[in-house]
Amino acid sequence: MSGVVQIDRPAQNKGSLAHRALDFWVRAHGYEAADVRGSMRTAIDQAVAELGSEAPSDWTLTGKRLLARAPALAEAFGDEVDDVIPERTIRDAALRIYGTPDIVVLGKEITLIDLKTEQIDDDELSPWIKFQLSVYAHLVAQEHGRLPRRIEVFSTQRGRMPVQLRDTDISAALAAFEAARRADPSAANPAEDTCRYCHRRLRCDAQWHAAPSWSKRDCVAGRVTRTERSMNGLTGLWLETADGPVLLSGVPTVLVPDVDGASIRAVRVSASPRADSDQPNWRWGTRSALAVMSP
Ligand code: SF4
Repeated sequence: MSGVVQIDRPAQNKGSLAHRALDFWVRAHGYEAADVRGSMRTAIDQAVAELGSEAPSDWTLTGKRLLARAPALAEAFGDEVDDVIPERTIRDAALRIYGTPDIVVLGKEITLIDLKTEQIDDDELSPWIKFQLSVYAHLVAQEHGRLPRRIEVFSTQRGRMPVQLRDTDISAALAAFEAARRADPSAANPAEDTCRYCHRRLRCDAQWHAAPSWSKRDCVAGRVTRTERSMNGLTGLWLETADGPVLLSGVPTVLVPDVDGASIRAVRVSASPRADSDQPNWRWGTRSALAVMSP
């Protein structure tokens, strides 16, 4: 399907800013400082200064949470720390998988920590997060010869969230990747778990036909009938979909400068229930991607 414009990530948002601050903090060994909040404050200031423009409006709360939770984050690294590796991309050449774990702590044991800035409503982490961590755990084992003993999500909203992954979770994630990679679009066999991370998703019509029946659907398609732009750099898109009008909110304006009347597809967006309809509205997140379709 030519003419598809795929946009994966906004250039800058609260998530990438928090990750950049974390990167500065780790590289400066801020977690070893007597005042870990002070060292985190320095790292945050560095990350914001690097932007060269104002921080996103939703950064204030995230930045405060990151600062307040710096001691808990340092604690999550553990007592026996030989090295801490921030954001290094690891590749599994054989499986053609790569990923960039946020933090790998090397010591007597290996600890894998993933920073999350998005809202986490349930104590139970989403399948997407578990999938992502399963892949990271596999990549860490490839790089360092053993699986991480401890895996945690560090949520700026909720703090430390230990994650239990079984070997079968890891092998299932790798199998899903393999299935997505081998998928022949002409004989596409859409399935929720397989499609979720497939790079062909935005243009794969079979997926779009199947998605409405999925129990945890995370995608929406429709024609843009109205845009609501906010001063905070985010845009709400009112979409006319097959199921009626819905709102896709929180899309960085820079990604959708001129989409009135265009048909769009968005994936890895979160459903938000509404009182006036069975159809949910949708919210953009840090993993979301969007395509503007050819007329
Ligand atoms: S998005 Fe399409 S090509 Fe990718 S796994 Fe799903 S059905 Fe197969």
